[in-house]
Amino acid sequence: MDRPVHVLKFGGTSVGTHEGLHSVSHIIREARDTCFPVVVVSAAAGITDDLVRAADETRGDRATAEAWVRHVGRRYRALAQDVIGDAPLCTHYESVLQAELSELRRALQNGTGPHAAAARDTVLAAGERLMAPLLAAVFTVHDCPARPVDATALIRTDAVHGDATVQWPPTCEQVQSWFEEWIDEPDAVPVITGFIGATADGTTTTIGRGGSDLSAATLARALEAERLERWTDVDGLYTRDPATHDDARRLDQLDFEQARTWTKAGRLGMHPCTLDPLAAADIPVHVRCTHRPEADGTRIVPAVAATRS
Ligand code: ASP
Ligand code: MG
Repeated sequence: MDRPVHVLKFGGTSVGTHEGLHSVSHIIREARDTCFPVVVVSAAAGITDDLVRAADETRGDRATAEAWVRHVGRRYRALAQDVIGDAPLCTHYESVLQAELSELRRALQNGTGPHAAAARDTVLAAGERLMAPLLAAVFTVHDCPARPVDATALIRTDAVHGDATVQWPPTCEQVQSWFEEWIDEPDAVPVITGFIGATADGTTTTIGRGGSDLSAATLARALEAERLERWTDVDGLYTRDPATHDDARRLDQLDFEQARTWTKAGRLGMHPCTLDPLAAADIPVHVRCTHRPEADGTRIVPAVAATRS
């Protein structure tokens, strides 16, 4: 591999509209010139909240399950039609969508009984499982061959459904052996589902709301990536939520220690454990805005680099 690996994570607001999908596609085509991009993606904005409601409301009721399945299908189908158009890839995506929606329907109907917690995680995972193949198709249509990867083959967790903990040694091993095979075909960009993993027996788990950040950080560490780029709808990290606080200030750069203290305290809008795997390996993070890729964003760097600059 002649290019460094960069992990690029796109949040739900980056991929929830057709403009967003076009921007992400452009960002990846540019990135390919200087790095080997490994993409991690969340569900389309709002979909995981919808799936939580679907699981809460359905409780085995077929008609309710069907209404939610239709709702989710409509959202992804609309995104696909806008961005992929009539290409044969759209037909292919439709068949992926049908299969995922059948799985969602089944999981919603299994929402009671002894396997309810596992079924609920399969419900929540649908958002990412529908997005990774869609984003891979969007890249491919834009002359950037890509393939989706289900993170259940990569991220090993315990069986605490809804808030599973990543188990590092088996995860690292799985990710590294997967990547060794992948780079035999280095022209395809991998598009990996964030938020989900699997137990040793292959049961799907989710790693906590906002968990795609942690998925991306875990993958970056296992791949010894040069950096993690976290793409979102704001141009960096702010001292407070800029949507609700006029006095919020954007941070140019901060060191791991500071950033970790703040994320653990629920600030900066990242999953509280995101920086743990990165700090352990000194992998810097660049928080950037999908809709304004030219903006500076915020850099999180090891303490030595922070004092030098
Ligand atoms: N889609 C999941 C959520 O909304 C994971 C993520 O976006 O990071 O929590
Ligand atoms: Mg999110």
